[in-house]
Amino acid sequence: MTVPLVDLGIQRDQIADEVAEGFARVLATTAFVGGPDCAAFESEFAAYSGRAHCVGVANGTDALELALRAAGVEQGDRIALPANTFVATAEAVVRAGGVPVPVDVDDEHLLLDPAALAEVAADVRAVMPVHLFGQLAPMEPIMAIAREHGLVVVEDGAQCQGATQHGRGMGAWGDAAGTSFYPGKNLGAFGDAGGVLTDDEEVARRVRLLANHGSDRKYEHPTLGFNSRLDTLQAVVLRAKLARLAGWNTERQLAAATYAELLKDVDGVRLPGVAEGNEHVWHLYVVRVPDRDGVLADLQAAGIGAGIHYPTPVHTTGAFERHGRPEGYPVTEKAAAEILSLPMFPGITRVQQERVRDALVEAVGKRVG
Ligand SMILES: *Cc1c(COP(=O)(O)O)cnc(C)c1O
Repeated sequence: MTVPLVDLGIQRDQIADEVAEGFARVLATTAFVGGPDCAAFESEFAAYSGRAHCVGVANGTDALELALRAAGVEQGDRIALPANTFVATAEAVVRAGGVPVPVDVDDEHLLLDPAALAEVAADVRAVMPVHLFGQLAPMEPIMAIAREHGLVVVEDGAQCQGATQHGRGMGAWGDAAGTSFYPGKNLGAFGDAGGVLTDDEEVARRVRLLANHGSDRKYEHPTLGFNSRLDTLQAVVLRAKLARLAGWNTERQLAAATYAELLKDVDGVRLPGVAEGNEHVWHLYVVRVPDRDGVLADLQAAGIGAGIHYPTPVHTTGAFERHGRPEGYPVTEKAAAEILSLPMFPGITRVQQERVRDALVEAVGKRVG
């Protein structure tokens, strides 16, 4: 039996009828950009997330870039972000005109470390906490530092749809959050899509303007903009999936509890933790193991679809290496050599998870033996 890292077919089958009806409705009207489905999705996702506004855009990277621009980031601004994140966080900074300033993460949760942020806070204009793997970065200490130094705060919420911290979700803390509806995310489209969540009406207005050629009225373009609109067919898919997201996140939480039980006494396997106050939605289930590349190769040979998120910290990728500091980022670098993402998706069965456990026990056992 093989176990995939992610199985999107289960979700696709559950929404098939609703999507077919929705696509037929859009095809009948020929309103392929904008229209009632986009507006309905935006208000439904804002309500689900507890935010006043959601603006749909073309993908998650655009969401982050436009949120930074709308929140007032300017050419040359230095922007702190965790060294341990997907490269798109840093791309968004550069595309918005900023300069990425990586900072280290905490060893327990691999999230932006407030102590590391404090070290650079006097020297940056903004910070992008990343809610990685399905749980929020520690927003109370981060916001205390941001307020003290007057920083713009744009959260990268690509991996945390439905997650909360002390009951508050992404976008509730700083200026805005950008999120991604890439197919594999907890809320994923049938292609690329993204959104900006905010309680700030002016930020929402500016994102909408920037995403639509700098225009809020036909033929008027007061500002240079972009084309980054949410596609109507994707909005249909997202509405159908949003209605099921809470249930799917519960399935992820149950699967995480099953892994914790199956793996609790396995020597050499360090399990992921949930930070204080967090409701974790387990976008990824990331363990740490010795000789990770060897373990990964063994799992793949055994038909287990494991992955690495991410093997190369931001400052070690070609595009961004000049932005790292000379002494590096020890916690991020050590973790990058140990992290291993196990299969995680709504609908994963206990039998599949036992298969993962068996293969992992064998692979790690050889190495700690
Ligand atoms: C997926 C992701 C993004 C980018 O989203 P796209 O929709 O692929 O542009 C940004 N940040 C993080 C942490 C992500 O996981």
